[in-house]
Amino acid sequence: MENTFTPIQFLKGVGPKRAEAFIGLGIHTTLDLLRYVPRAYLDRSSIFSLASLAERCRKQTLFSELKSDDIVSEVQYRREATVIVRVHAIRRQEFAGGRKMLIVTVRDDSPQAAELVFFQQVGYYEKVLQQDGTYVVSGNPEFEERFRKLQFHHPTIERVNDEDEELFAKGVIVPQYPMTKELKSAGIWMALLRRLALTALEYDGDKIEECFPAAMLGQYDLPELGRAFAALHAPTNLREIGWAKRRLKFEELFFFEMILALRRRGNRVQEQGVTIEPRSTKARTLLDRLPFELTSAQKRVLNEIADDFRSGKPMNRLLQGDVGSGKTIVSVFAMLMAVESGFQTLIMAPTEILAEQHYRGISALFEGLGVNVVQLVGGQKKKVRASVQEEIASGRAHIVVGTHALFGGMTSKNESNLVYHKIGLIVIDEQHRFGVMQRAKLRSMAMDSHGEERLVPHILVMSATPIPRTLSMTLYGDLDVSIINELPKNRKPIRTKIIFENELRTYFDFIRAEVAKGRQAYIVYPLVEQSEKMELKSAVEHYEHLQTEIFGDLRVGLLHGQMLWYEKDDVMKAFYRREYDILVATTVIEVGIDVPNATVMLIENAERFGLAQLHQLRGRVGRGAEQSYCFLATKDHFRYHIGKKPEELSAARATVLRLKTMEDTNDGFKIAEVDMTLRGPGDILGTRQSGMPEFRYTDLVSDGDIITMARREAFAVIEADPHLRKPEHQKLRAAFLASYGSGHGFFDVA
Ligand code: ADP
Ligand code: MG
Repeated sequence: MENTFTPIQFLKGVGPKRAEAFIGLGIHTTLDLLRYVPRAYLDRSSIFSLASLAERCRKQTLFSELKSDDIVSEVQYRREATVIVRVHAIRRQEFAGGRKMLIVTVRDDSPQAAELVFFQQVGYYEKVLQQDGTYVVSGNPEFEERFRKLQFHHPTIERVNDEDEELFAKGVIVPQYPMTKELKSAGIWMALLRRLALTALEYDGDKIEECFPAAMLGQYDLPELGRAFAALHAPTNLREIGWAKRRLKFEELFFFEMILALRRRGNRVQEQGVTIEPRSTKARTLLDRLPFELTSAQKRVLNEIADDFRSGKPMNRLLQGDVGSGKTIVSVFAMLMAVESGFQTLIMAPTEILAEQHYRGISALFEGLGVNVVQLVGGQKKKVRASVQEEIASGRAHIVVGTHALFGGMTSKNESNLVYHKIGLIVIDEQHRFGVMQRAKLRSMAMDSHGEERLVPHILVMSATPIPRTLSMTLYGDLDVSIINELPKNRKPIRTKIIFENELRTYFDFIRAEVAKGRQAYIVYPLVEQSEKMELKSAVEHYEHLQTEIFGDLRVGLLHGQMLWYEKDDVMKAFYRREYDILVATTVIEVGIDVPNATVMLIENAERFGLAQLHQLRGRVGRGAEQSYCFLATKDHFRYHIGKKPEELSAARATVLRLKTMEDTNDGFKIAEVDMTLRGPGDILGTRQSGMPEFRYTDLVSDGDIITMARREAFAVIEADPHLRKPEHQKLRAAFLASYGSGHGFFDVA
């Protein structure tokens, strides 16, 4: 298929030198060139005047006018704006140390001027930019309110020639291709690219094969590939461009999801899992005596788990739900089913205190059900440990609650000193503290526990860090994802308010009033010091200040990261027992601990925390029946003006949007969406090496609906025709193999 397309060097206007530049970009044929799609379009209806751009920016620099709903325009705002301007003046500034800066004043027909600022390649820009020349400028504008100064730092600029200007004036939509230095230095300019794309369409447009069944395209109203290319390179209206882009995104995502579907099918086909009967009298009994009704989200997730159990194929499921959404009780029902089917169950928590809480909670729930729950944590007495281990090995222990201690210690023969007995289910709580490797280790220990049979256990991973669905669908390809997106009905939403440092006293008084009512409070502040020693000093000083100057009559506790785990445990337990009224803490309280009596959280320097972290922190309150409050204290100047210098504006705006989002919503998934919008998908997981796929056409932030659609279709196709043998899938198969190569063993799965 591929080789019937004309090689790039045979296109009119492409000699050997230009061909080389194209090949450097992976463009070998007309088809490759058609896949090199415009990054933007010049269109009279979508170009901003400088004045309207300034107005839009202004709205987003005033604290009082900024709303978390602005997040959508924030995306567009950040994503770049395009203007068409004339160069009015070029000024070069030199600083001590030889640093240079070029400031180019530009204008259009509106009253607002703008500056293009270059710190790098100053000489180059000084040479190419021409007085009175017309340019297309694209970049992220910054607006400074006081002097009404609109700036672009290092924008993309493109000279507009007379021909383009004419087209534009006539109302033609003019494609803007992504330009590289290599293209330019081979003499390939925008106008040439445009012409070549049209030539490619003319030569080979009718050779483009459609790989998707017509019914599938029809269902989602997607154009055929050939039409999509025509619309992208020679558009007649804007609507058609969006339509064509969806087609390319769908294709890209479909193939990506198809790989995930194949991989998962491979896992499932090859492994023999444990079969668990979901109908359980113990579960029934527990359900009947619960003082509350399960939410419909909890029921849905339980059904999903039951289906996995029944199938005998090992479950690998991620259960996502906000703090307090009731994940634990869901896992408890799953555990009961496993126990009643004769299997041991592990539940692993990231800290001792959480393990202890689970142990107590679960034991209490199971009272009278004939289920034996044991606990395995570090620091247990030798004798206790030995007897617990014996219960586990013999199978008398049905449920083992623990921390990392569940991995066991090593014997001199480098084997684990822990022997489990027929593990059917592993539950891992607060997933982000555990790595994939640890999951695999537990899994293999569980397989050993079945002797020769080596049955694969079911795994349920529970995470209280909501991530956007689009991300979980792409990142956790090997896990099925279940979501609890509903809080139990009896919860009162936490009231959140942004406050300013000069009003702190008022809120300290508020805390005092809550304490007088018998409640407790957290005061959290970020650690900003360079060294651990300094950090410790600042934590202690801050605590002492609060204890002596502000809350002299109350009992204040301190929790910080430099404490040993058992010291932290002691403080937390004391707080739980109400021996402190107020707990001053650094972020170490982030995970899990449940003190329903705590109703106020005051976060100092809230601007220093990320959204996900703020949300996690806030989840520590609102766990009881009383109304809870969260105060986000930040710098006074945010109230009037966010940032002074233009280069500080973006960061400040992002900060305010973060805080406003917290004020507006308690929904962890919505917060995660905003977080991803502000930081981009790569950063929200905290790691760059998170296995994030790189897409050419797709934007993980905004293309959620297409991802969902493509995933559904790809999984359905693989389910129905795992080897793509059906006649209607032959073109799909060929296109997939052409994109992803045939060497990966796809479709060879037995
Ligand atoms: P998560 O682990 O998701 O943060 P938990 O499972 O710890 O949440 O649940 C928090 C609290 O809510 C627990 O005290 C639990 O008993 C209670 N709970 C769970 N489900 C419901 C429900 N459907 N209705 C009322 N309360 C519930
Ligand atoms: Mg929990």
